[in-house]
Amino acid sequence: MESKRKIALITGASRGIGSQVAIDLAARGIFVIINYSSRSSSAKEVLKKIKDAGGDGIISHFDVSNFVQVSEKIKEIINKVGVIHILINNAGITRDTLLLRMKEEDWDKVISVNLKGSFNCTKAVARQMIKQRYGRIVNVTSVVGEMGNPGQTNYSAAKAGIVGFTKACAKEFASRGVTVNAVSPGFIETDITADLSDQVRKEYLKRIPLGRFGNIKDVSNLIEFLVSDQASYITGEVIKVNGGLYT
Ligand code: NAP
Repeated sequence: MESKRKIALITGASRGIGSQVAIDLAARGIFVIINYSSRSSSAKEVLKKIKDAGGDGIISHFDVSNFVQVSEKIKEIINKVGVIHILINNAGITRDTLLLRMKEEDWDKVISVNLKGSFNCTKAVARQMIKQRYGRIVNVTSVVGEMGNPGQTNYSAAKAGIVGFTKACAKEFASRGVTVNAVSPGFIETDITADLSDQVRKEYLKRIPLGRFGNIKDVSNLIEFLVSDQASYITGEVIKVNGGLYT
């Protein structure tokens, strides 16, 4: 592998926002590591698309919520590719239900994947980023972490946690050339939002000043910027990409 080539790990890159980020970073010449948890065929499709377009990468299967698995897999990746320059903590899930009906496992699962997953992956790459005095970390939070949403107490708490985590990491790593930012998408058309009823979609649409739902490219464009050299003086920020839904 060329030593100057940047290497990015994108969690949850088999579908949705993560897959677009992998495709876009690869198109910039970045070697991408496509993480997924269950759908290997989707991850393979993403890698094929990247290779067909002249990019390169590998697939890495692990569950971001499993601390030991993440540490071992990321160690393996670093042994194989040398270093990781860019980490996109994107893997996320929802388990929506009103608080009164929420089971402990709904709470634990959503916090584990969204929030602890970001901790696990950041912890696993941080030491070598600090050592190489370069790193770009982007965490994916959500508009609901900022404004709250009924039926999503677990998800809102996890995403709000990511905001605090981002700001604290930014302060810890700043002197070592590692920036840490978060992107906060609004309503983006992916599998995560596909199950919402027409009624809920209509209600959301009324509240979005730009008059449309977001797409995965809208979010990927912002992430692409944040990991570029043009964003080297930005750290600890949470940047909204929500069509004006919440400002
Ligand atoms: P998505 O289409 O449902 O894709 C989720 C991705 O996360 C998949 O690649 C999935 O892998 C992976 N994943 C799930 N659990 C995982 C685990 N334990 N370990 C590793 N990977 C795991 O979701 P999306 O809409 O693109 O969302 C991406 C991120 O944006 C999430 O953090 C989400 O909370 C956030 N977000 C989304 C929206 C929106 O409106 N879509 C809004 C705000 C924030 P498999 O394919 O293997 O299952």
